[in-house]
Amino acid sequence: MTRPIPKDEVAVLQRTLRVGLVSALSPAAIETVGQLRVTATCKCGCATVWFGPDGDAASGIKAAEACVTWNGETIDVIVWAIEGQIVGLEVAGPGEPALPEPASVRRFEEYFQAPSV
Ligand SMILES: [Zn+2]
Repeated sequence: MTRPIPKDEVAVLQRTLRVGLVSALSPAAIETVGQLRVTATCKCGCATVWFGPDGDAASGIKAAEACVTWNGETIDVIVWAIEGQIVGLEVAGPGEPALPEPASVRRFEEYFQAPSV
């Protein structure tokens, strides 16, 4: 079962790609983020979603990595890609992180320069 990607996931994906791109994605892949279909969600209850034909079994490379504060903890937001195509949006941290506010997703480096107290 698949579903179209909702607007809030598109916003988080676009924000993460903008602040934390770490490897090459095709321009088309970035432009068509809004047309992705969710093929799997994380079974743990967090906001992680997968888009590729392999669902949550996808193993790609990090296309973008950023961070966000959730419940007082700094957690990772990672965009996974296979051959330039986006296959996953992972929200990784303790507990079951919810989808963050797009505007709160920030460059990973800021975490090391100015850790939140
Ligand atoms: Zn999970």
